[in-house]
Amino acid sequence: MSGFEGSYGGHAARISDQAVMECKICWSVYDPAIGDPTRQIDPGTPFTALPEDWSCPTCSAEPQNFMVLRDPGAEAHLRAQRIKAATERLEADFTEVWHAKMRDVPLVNKALKVQAVGFRAHEGQIMGVLISPWFMNLILLPDTQDWSALVTGEKEVVDFPSGAYEFIHNTREMTGGYKACSLFSPMGDFTRQQDAVDVANAVMQAIFDPANRAETDRRADIRAQREAQLAAQTDGDDPDKDDTGGDTEPAAPTRRALITAGLGSDLQPDA
Ligand code: FE
Repeated sequence: MSGFEGSYGGHAARISDQAVMECKICWSVYDPAIGDPTRQIDPGTPFTALPEDWSCPTCSAEPQNFMVLRDPGAEAHLRAQRIKAATERLEADFTEVWHAKMRDVPLVNKALKVQAVGFRAHEGQIMGVLISPWFMNLILLPDTQDWSALVTGEKEVVDFPSGAYEFIHNTREMTGGYKACSLFSPMGDFTRQQDAVDVANAVMQAIFDPANRAETDRRADIRAQREAQLAAQTDGDDPDKDDTGGDTEPAAPTRRALITAGLGSDLQPDA
């Protein structure tokens, strides 16, 4: 509950829950770790969550007369706001595409809507899963980087704890530059939005789980071994065919391993 959000110099959104504030009239300090025992304010109460009638315990100055003394949570707070803004832009952008261009396209799943799931900071970037009626993709967005010069269609292999994934670069006017790794397309196997959300959340768990690494590494090993064999056997004999989907599949994408390791087998990735 925020008693005076918006009246604190208009900057309430810029301070984190850890902000230590100082009265600019009498220099009294409000530290959320301590609270305000004189007003029965419990330790752990953020400055922005103080009751509406709270004032400086020493000089009774209004809260808007307080300044930030230090804010150890400022960086994380600002990052969280950037993630929220970027995610909302992405959702708005693809919702517009859905309404304007995709509604009457065959194979769209009208039980679904555009939804960004699980977006979080990851190694200086923003990542999450974007669900739409026609695809489910892992998405990388820039945080403070400038991705406006990304070349659409260019491929990039990105490492995660569970393995390496191939992303395709793209740019859109509203979203700006982003990178996408296809998980499912089309989306006909999902009957409800919640099913897609559950799978998206499972993907976000699985991709950071090193336990899935063994599988992806094994596939990489198999492929390397096989390529060595093929190089040695120029007659085209193929005595050791693996199950990774054939010759045309690039070495990098390991999302099938991720999906089959982490999720039910009734949902098939785009094959
Ligand atoms: Fe004061």
